[in-house]
Amino acid sequence: MKRAAWIFVLAVFLPSLVLGLLALRTAREQSVILERQASALRQQETDAAAQTIREALFARQAEFIASVQTFLKSRPPQVASVEFYRNFSNMWGDGSVPFATSLNGVICSPRATDAAPAALEFLKQNSALLGNSVEVEFFQTQKSANSAENQKVDNAYAAKAAYVQKMEVAGKTGAAKRNVLPQKLPAEDKNASESQLVPEISNFRKVVQNASDGILARFVENKLEVIFWMRGPDNLVFGLMLPASQLNTLVQNSMPSSQGRSNDACMAVLNENTVPVAQSPPGFKANWKHPFVATEIGDSLPHWEVALYLAHPEQFETSARSFTFILLALIGISLGAICVGGYLVVSDARRQMALAEKKTNFVSNVSHELKTPLTSIRMFSELLQKPGIDESRRIKYLRIITLESERLTRLINNVLDFARMEGKRKSYQKHEVDLYPVIERTWESQSAHLQESGFTTTWHAAEPPYSVIGDEDALAQVLVNLLSNAEKYSTTEKSIELHTYFTDMQLCIAVLDRGIGVAPGQETKIFEAFYRSDDSLSSGVQGSGLGLTLARRIAEDHEGSIRLEARQGGGSTFTFCIPISKKSIHEKDSYR
Ligand code: ADP
Repeated sequence: MKRAAWIFVLAVFLPSLVLGLLALRTAREQSVILERQASALRQQETDAAAQTIREALFARQAEFIASVQTFLKSRPPQVASVEFYRNFSNMWGDGSVPFATSLNGVICSPRATDAAPAALEFLKQNSALLGNSVEVEFFQTQKSANSAENQKVDNAYAAKAAYVQKMEVAGKTGAAKRNVLPQKLPAEDKNASESQLVPEISNFRKVVQNASDGILARFVENKLEVIFWMRGPDNLVFGLMLPASQLNTLVQNSMPSSQGRSNDACMAVLNENTVPVAQSPPGFKANWKHPFVATEIGDSLPHWEVALYLAHPEQFETSARSFTFILLALIGISLGAICVGGYLVVSDARRQMALAEKKTNFVSNVSHELKTPLTSIRMFSELLQKPGIDESRRIKYLRIITLESERLTRLINNVLDFARMEGKRKSYQKHEVDLYPVIERTWESQSAHLQESGFTTTWHAAEPPYSVIGDEDALAQVLVNLLSNAEKYSTTEKSIELHTYFTDMQLCIAVLDRGIGVAPGQETKIFEAFYRSDDSLSSGVQGSGLGLTLARRIAEDHEGSIRLEARQGGGSTFTFCIPISKKSIHEKDSYR
């Protein structure tokens, strides 16, 4: 059985456990992949929005360049540079400041005499820069002067390689932290929590001399200042400074609509102070510093981010946790079912093995029981055949032969009856019967023999009739089996009592002995088929292990029962009860 348990553990339990754990791992990996895919999709949304905003800025710059070029066609460059502020301040309006300067650092317009507050403020902040007298920290996006295609290059969010190169060029070892910390950072980008933008430090002349136009962004007193510029003839540079209000409007207009996006998410554009300047849908509240995913817009709007927030940011965690929980529960239930199933299989196998062992014992017990009476019958028959045997001996031998053949009949009847019951072929001739004379006949024949063997026998009988519905032969067989056991299992004190009485509408027949009794723990086992407390061969008491099994089956087939009680002072009481017939109930009110 130990081996079977090991086989079960190694062949069923362990593989199931391993499979379950593998399933758990795979499921976890799958949920990580799904989460990654979801965040990659969201990341694509913010990347696309950042691209749209950059393009809107470039479009605005292109508009500026086109209008400057038109302006330059109608007048000489020097005149244009002087009149530039006056002509363009109205055109771009809303606080934007047009300016013209030479590469040598001479500011042509605006002039202090232009007197507009925005112009004066601009001059105050930018004279040193435009005059090439200082080096400042700035971010730039520009057309490459050497590029054959003259293609716009947005260094801001270019490939990582370019970023690394820029870092080296800038001589910096570490990038600035981003304003936001997205929950989901691209797995392949270990530095994604750091800003991809590296400012340059240079003066205005160096910035503009190698390109035809560009966008320059820098922070003045912690406020973002964005400047469009283009190179004109005669080493002149024309530019336009966009105020924050214009940048905000531009971003708001190029913000993708929330249509098509599930309303469990919000997209927002955050400025350098992590304040949303545009959001869709409006009214969404979130911890702006912790979006689900975010994309930096780039060098044209440094430290501005397009960020996406989930209404339920914990949803991935929760669903992954509940999925793991369900899977664990399923694995637990399956393992539990396997254990219970295994236990049932093992205990069934155990039962079958015990039964097989009992059957083997039964065969040897029955053979032994058949052999003993047959040997006696043969021996005494031979003795009888001898000439000159006296009368008393002859009677004695004949008596022994009768008893032994009765024993044989009883044994064979028991075995045949058991076989019939097992094959559901046992049929009873049930009818209304007075059991008193049946019990009387059985008792008389059995007690005579018992007394001969040295037993004292007493019958305490209630008043007859004992009306029951049943098969009298079968019921008599129960009594014979009980009396036979009482005889077999009595050793020194040979006393057998028979009590017949009525209780709870039942007729009870109790056989009491002063024999060896039934050992504790065996009270129910002794009613099992083939069960014997002691083997016939070792105990010397013969039996088949079927007597009580048959008695119980017959009792149950008559809606009755059989029970065992240990007796005070040693021995056992086997009580067999069956219901009395209705007729008898009417007659015997006193039984109740
Ligand atoms: P058996 O042929 O072995 O007597 P039974 O089914 O009649 O088969 O009895 C089963 C077992 O119950 C016996 O082996 C014996 O151990 C125990 N038993 C039955 N009757 C008695 C009794 N009166 N006193 C003690 N033990 C008994």
